[in-house]
Amino acid sequence: MGELGGKTALVTGSTSGIGLGLARGFAKAGANVVLNGFGDAGEIEALRAELDATSEGAVSYDGADMTKPDEIEAMVQGAVARHGTVDILVNNAGIQIVSPIDEFPIDGWDRIIAINMNSAFHTARAALPGMKAKGWGRIINIASAHGLVASPFKSAYVTAKHGIVGMTKTVALEVAEAGITCNAICPGYVLTPLVERQIPDTAKARGITEDQVKRDVLLAAQWTKKFVTVEQLSGVANFLCSDAAENITGIALPVDGGWTAA
Ligand code: NAD
Repeated sequence: MGELGGKTALVTGSTSGIGLGLARGFAKAGANVVLNGFGDAGEIEALRAELDATSEGAVSYDGADMTKPDEIEAMVQGAVARHGTVDILVNNAGIQIVSPIDEFPIDGWDRIIAINMNSAFHTARAALPGMKAKGWGRIINIASAHGLVASPFKSAYVTAKHGIVGMTKTVALEVAEAGITCNAICPGYVLTPLVERQIPDTAKARGITEDQVKRDVLLAAQWTKKFVTVEQLSGVANFLCSDAAENITGIALPVDGGWTAA
């Protein structure tokens, strides 16, 4: 049996990027996985089938919108009905909007706070009773280096990510004696669709090439001069689910090539 055999992992925003990488890692370790996120129905079904074939557990998909508390609650209850509990909850769904604060679209601000922060409250409140009853659980919040430091023009994102780091610490203390840990992972830049979408606009805005954007803008603060990979983040997440990490709780773990050390 894989090291997560018999466990169920729900990963929000796992049809793409980091969430998909984490879901792949959990499936490889034998867990049941609940995928979530938007995208083309045929492509999502192909991903579900791919992960299902790699895991000794079962892989399902729920298209709940992370701006909608009732859909989030139904997603968690559906996972519990299928698998017994949600043992590993990863709050990963996230979006980005880059704009000066005085021009920031109001609905964009509300969407970022809802998806990147509030959804983690709704998933945790629905999943925790089952974890408590079982005496085991792992909550992993995908924050960001922007949960620890700021950059200009990302006010909603930085606010939401700092908020989720605070939520991580609070939940960790509340459930510490119940066999449940709650931690945040704070990645630096990872080349996912979320970041790739920012490159052409940044190149245009600054009058530089896309390669220069990668090296001189995105990796400017990343001392390794390397993007973080989804595989590295998957390894960190699986470690946080291991017995060795039982006493690691309430941390915001930078995986950022030295960005927040400077
Ligand atoms: P991505 O755009 O590749 O994936 C985002 C996922 O969230 C997708 O599956 C998308 O369908 C889903 N999603 C978006 N809105 C949703 C909604 N309303 N309901 C349900 N799902 C929704 O992005 P990514 O880079 O993989 O980002 C994942 C997380 O990692 C985000 O929270 C992001 O802030 C964080 N992060 C990313 C980086 C990076 O450099 N890529 C760095 C630090 C933190």
